Formats: sequence, C-alpha cells, structure tokens
Amino acid sequence: MNITEVRVKLTEAKKNRLQAFCSITIDNDFVVRDLKIIEGYKGAFVAMPSRKLADKCPKCNSKNHLRARFCNDCGAKLDDKRALGESRGEAGEESKGKFKLYADTAHPINSNCRDEIEQKVLAAYKEETEKAKQPGYKPPVMGEPDTDDYDVETS
Ligand SMILES: [Zn+2]
Repeated sequence: MNITEVRVKLTEAKKNRLQAFCSITIDNDFVVRDLKIIEGYKGAFVAMPSRKLADKCPKCNSKNHLRARFCNDCGAKLDDKRALGESRGEAGEESKGKFKLYADTAHPINSNCRDEIEQKVLAAYKEETEKAKQPGYKPPVMGEPDTDDYDVETS
C-alpha cells in the first residue's frame, strides 16, 4: 500500500487535544477522510476515522449516542452507566466493561501499516504546522469535518 497524498487541516480551537483533521490517499485511488491528530501524553498520535457508538432507547427505540443522558426523541432518562455494560445491542462491540464510545470505521489491520500511516501523517502534520507559521498561510481545502465529533476520546 502506498500513501500517495496526505492533507492536513489544523484545527483552530486549542481548547481540546484535537490538533488536526487529515485525509490520506491510497495508491492515487482511494481516499480515507477524518483521520485525527490528537495531542496525547506521549506526543501527537493519529486516530482513525470513527463513529460514535449508539444504542436504542428502551422506551421509544430511537438511537442515542452512548453518552447521551436523555433520549433525543422522547426525552426519557437513559441509564448513564450503560456504556459500561457488556452487551450494547446493535453497536455492541467486544469491549467487556471497557468504556468505549467510538468505533473505527477504517483502520489498518497490522502494525506495519499503522506505522506507515502514522509516520506519513505526522510528517505532514509537522510540515503543515511549519507552513502555518508563515505569513499568508492558506490552509488546504478539505471537506468539512463532522464537527459533532470534536469531543475526541483518547485512551
Ligand atoms: Zn426514547
């Protein structure tokens, strides 16, 4: 697999650890968007694109994010410890007792690939950070990220 392009869009808000959104192009053919660069305790790392896990309201059956405390539809109070449970209906992944609110939607399946993505993305991030210090800097044009996902969880 060749990563033929990396785009990095630095975030402006410094209020959380999310530093940038990225997209990578594989073999000039396939784009994966919404990778995130997160400032961790041991330095920046790359998070794969993910979706919020949801489960169904026991009253009306509509879907709510696991962190929601009340149902979006009917307003019923939801068990706020339900994300800790072992079974989680449709979105339930094997995460026995582990607090997991997000699931990757695209991700490498071996560490070689993970390392390659991480190295290329972090290199591009460094480059972009340097460019951003120059006067007249123009950030790359990218699709709007899902701002709903700004509250990034890290483990
Ligand atoms: Zn409901």
